[in-house]
Amino acid sequence: MSYTPMIQQYLAIKAQYQDAFLFFRLGDFYELFFDDAKKASKELEIALTSRNGGKDEYIPMCGVPYHAAKQYIKVLIDKGYKIAICEQMEDPKLAKGMVHREVIQMITPGTIMEDESLQPKKNNYLAALTAAKDGSFGLALSDLTTGEIRVTLISSWDGVIQELDANDVRELILASNFDPDKKEEMVERLNMAFSESDSSQVPDPLQKIAIGIDQEKLIQPLGKLLSYLVNTQKRSLDHLQRAEVYQINAYMMIDQHSRRNLELTQTNREKKTYGSLLWLLDDVKTAMGGRRLKQWIEKPLLSKNKIEKRLDAVAALKEHLLERETLRSLLGNVYDLERLVGRVSFGNVNPREVVQLKRSLEQIPEIKRMLAELDETALTQYEQEMDPCTEVRELITDAIVDDPPFTTSDGGMIKPGYHETLDQYRDASKNGKRWIAELEAKEREETGIKSLKIGYNRVFGYYIEVSKPNLKLIPEGRYERRQTLSNAERFITPELKEKERVILEAEEKRVGLEFQIFGDVRLKIKEQSERLQKLARLISSLDVLQSFASVSDQNGYVRPQFSNERALEIKNSRHPVIERVMRRGTFVANDIKMDETCDLLMITGPNMGGKSTYMRQAALTAIMAQVGCFVPADHAELPIFDQIFTRIGAADDLVSGQSTFMVEMDEANYALSHATQNSLILLDEIGRGTSTYDGIAIAQAIVEFIHDHIAAKTFFSTHYHELTFLEEKLDRLKNIHVGAMEENGTVVFLHKVLEGQADKSYGIHVAKLAGLPDVLIERADTILQGLEGNAAADSKSYSEADDAPQSDSRGEAAAAQEVEEEPEQLALFAEPKEPEQPQRSKTERKVLQELNKIELLSMTPMDAMNKLFQLQKTLKK
Ligand code: ADP
Ligand code: MG
Repeated sequence: MSYTPMIQQYLAIKAQYQDAFLFFRLGDFYELFFDDAKKASKELEIALTSRNGGKDEYIPMCGVPYHAAKQYIKVLIDKGYKIAICEQMEDPKLAKGMVHREVIQMITPGTIMEDESLQPKKNNYLAALTAAKDGSFGLALSDLTTGEIRVTLISSWDGVIQELDANDVRELILASNFDPDKKEEMVERLNMAFSESDSSQVPDPLQKIAIGIDQEKLIQPLGKLLSYLVNTQKRSLDHLQRAEVYQINAYMMIDQHSRRNLELTQTNREKKTYGSLLWLLDDVKTAMGGRRLKQWIEKPLLSKNKIEKRLDAVAALKEHLLERETLRSLLGNVYDLERLVGRVSFGNVNPREVVQLKRSLEQIPEIKRMLAELDETALTQYEQEMDPCTEVRELITDAIVDDPPFTTSDGGMIKPGYHETLDQYRDASKNGKRWIAELEAKEREETGIKSLKIGYNRVFGYYIEVSKPNLKLIPEGRYERRQTLSNAERFITPELKEKERVILEAEEKRVGLEFQIFGDVRLKIKEQSERLQKLARLISSLDVLQSFASVSDQNGYVRPQFSNERALEIKNSRHPVIERVMRRGTFVANDIKMDETCDLLMITGPNMGGKSTYMRQAALTAIMAQVGCFVPADHAELPIFDQIFTRIGAADDLVSGQSTFMVEMDEANYALSHATQNSLILLDEIGRGTSTYDGIAIAQAIVEFIHDHIAAKTFFSTHYHELTFLEEKLDRLKNIHVGAMEENGTVVFLHKVLEGQADKSYGIHVAKLAGLPDVLIERADTILQGLEGNAAADSKSYSEADDAPQSDSRGEAAAAQEVEEEPEQLALFAEPKEPEQPQRSKTERKVLQELNKIELLSMTPMDAMNKLFQLQKTLKK
C-alpha cells in the first residue's frame, strides 16, 4: 500500500523544508503531520490526533485554525523554530484532481514581520557569515522589518562573536560546510537560530542593494543573505536599503562578557531592561528612537568629531527646555515609520497603519519649524535634511478615510471623491438602499400593516417581514413567501429582488475596487520608501538626542571633555544607575583621577565598601561620553577609549554562577592580549577563585604585566591587602581605598574613596554585623592579631631586602625578566603561622569541652570535687 496522493504531495514538499515546521493548508486549517505533528503538539500544547494516510498505520497529525495561525506561529518563532507556510494555490472546488499546493513563505526568527513577534524598541537581525581564505570573515546584517542592511569585514574569530552578540542577532545563515567547531562555539555562546544556504550570489532583482560594494569578501555574505531572503520570502523586498559598509574598528570594542557585566542593555541576573544603561538613557518618544538608542549604546564611537557633534546637539536641546518639550510631544505622535515602510513594501500593511503613516508625516513640518526657530548650528543639519514627504501625506489624506477599519476585506477605507467609479458604485448602493427605505414606507401605508419591515440577511437577502397576526391583511398575490418563523413570515417581490441585485453588485464591485485602489496607494507609497526611510533615520537620531538631553537635564549630568593626554579626571563622579534607583541624594559622589603619570589604581577596602561600584561607574561614564551623552559628574575629562574590558574574580562573579577560575583566567588572558594603552581595564577581585597565595601571586603578576607592557588605564580592586605594597614598586600605580569607620565596634561604610591603602579589611566587623556569635568573632579577632603580627614582621624584612631598581621605561624584555627573576618576592606571603596550638588528643579535647561547660557558680564544692575526679579519670583512661 502506498500513501494517499495528498500525503505524497505533503511528503514531497516537506522534503524541501526539513528544518522547518510545514504548515500544510487543508481547508480552514494548517495541518502538521508525522514528526512535525508530534513536536508541534507539544510545543503548542494542542491535541495530537491521527489520520489514515493510505497505509496500515495512522499518521500523527495536529492542526491550527487558519485565522488563528499568527499566535501559534509566534510561539514557535519565540522558541527559535522556523515555519514553512504551504497554501492551496487554487480553489479546491475548481481544482481537477489534487489541489495544487506551494510553500509561499518561510517564517523564521530572523524574517518574522508580524508585530506580535517583534519588540518595538529592538531590531530583529538576520545575519550571514562567510569565511574567507585568509582567515577573515565577512558579515552581513539586515533587519527585514526596517530594511536596513550593513556589511563588514572582521579579521578575528573573537571579533565575529562580539559583533553577533553586540547586535543581538536572532538568526544566522552559514554555508553547509562552515567549520563545525566554530559553529558549535556559536551555539554555546550565542542565543540564535541557524540556517544553511550555499548560494552567495546577489540575486538580480536586488543588485541595487550591492551597488558600490566591490570587495568579494563583502559580496559573499551579502549575496548569501539576499539569496536566502529571496528564497524564503518569495515576495517584494523593495524596501531593503542599499547596503552600508561599516568598519567594526570605528567603534569601541566591548567583548561579550564585559557587555553583560556592565549591564549595558539588560541586567545580568534578571535579564531585564530595568536597571541597565539602556533603561537609564531611554526617554525616547518613538519606537525607532528606541532601536537607535540601543544601537548607539552597543556601539560607542571613537571619532572625537562625531562624538562632539552628538554632544553639541544634546547641549542645544538640553539648553532649551520649552522647545524640547514641544519636540517631545510632536515626536510622541510619530509612529514607527521604519517598520510601517517595511510593511508597505512587504504588502502586509493595513489601512489603519497607512493612516498612522500620515499622522506621522503631519508632525514633520512642525518639527522642522521648531528646529528652525531654535537656530542652533548643531540642529540645522537635521532641519535641512528632513524631508516632510508632502506628496505621500497628501496622497493618504486624499485617498484614505481618517478612521479606516483594520482590514481591507470589507472596504470602507477609501475616501469619497477620490475615485469616480467607486463613487458611482457607492451611489448605486446608496440609491438602492434609499429605494428600499421608501418601499418599506409605501408597503406599510398600502397594506395598513404598521409593523411591516424590510430586513436583510446573508442567506435570503432582502425580505419583507410581517408578523403572524397581520398576515391576513396582505392582499392576495402581493408577495411571494420565502421563510416562515415562529411569529412572522418573510416575503419577497420581484422588484425587491431586482433592487437587491443592483445593490449587491454595486457593493461587491465597491469592495473589489476599494481593495484595488488601496493596493495602488500602497504601491505609490512604496515608490517613496527611500525618502521615508531617510526621514525615519533622522527622526530616530533626533529622538535619541532629545532623550540624552532630557535624561542629562533631569539627573544633573555634565558635558564630558576629551583629553589627548590619556588623563582621566572626573569630579564628583556617580554611578548613574545606582544613583537613579537609590533614594535621592544618598549616593556618595567620588572623584576619579588618573593623570598622565598614573595608569593603575589599586582599590582596597572592606567588602561592601563600594569598590566594584566605583570602577563600574568609571566605565559607564566612559561609555556614556562616547555614545554622545552627558555624564554623571560635576566635571569630566577623559580620553577616548578604544576598548573596555571587565574581569570579575570567579568567587565574586555571582551572576554567571558557572564562572570557574579557568574561565576567569581565560578572560584575563583575553584582556591582556587585546588591550592597548588606549583601553580601559577593570579587574575586580581577580584571583579570588583560587587559594590565597596562588591568587595573590597571579593578581600581582597581572598588575605588573599591565603596568610594564600595556599601560592601559586600569582599575584593580582587591581585598588582598598585601598587594598595596606594589605602589612602591610600580611608579604608575596608585593606591586608593574605600573608607569605612568603626563606630561602637561596628563598621560604617562611608562609600568615600580616599587616597592610599585601606588599613584593615574589616571582614570581622562585617561578620559581626551579620550577627555571627560573639565567641566566634572574638576568636577571629585573636587569629587576625596573630596573622597581622606575622605579616608586619615579613613586610619589614621585605623593605629591607628591596633594592631592586624601580620599573620604568626599560625594554620589554628586561621588564618581563624581572617578573621571572623575583620569585623571592612571593616570600612575603609565605604561609603565616597561627599562634602556637598544642596538639591535643580527642579525649583531651572532650575534657576541655566539659570543663568549659561547667557552671561553677551553681555548684557546691562537693559537686565540683566529684566533677574534677571524673574528668581526671577520663584523662587517665
Ligand atoms: P565592594 O565591591 O567594595 O564589595 P560594592 O561596590 O559592591 O562594594 O558596593 C556595595 C554596596 O554599597 C552596593 O549595594 C552599593 O549600592 C553601595 N554603594 C557603593 N558605592 C556607593 C556610593 N558611592 N554611595 C552610596 N552607596 C554606594
Ligand atoms: Mg565588589
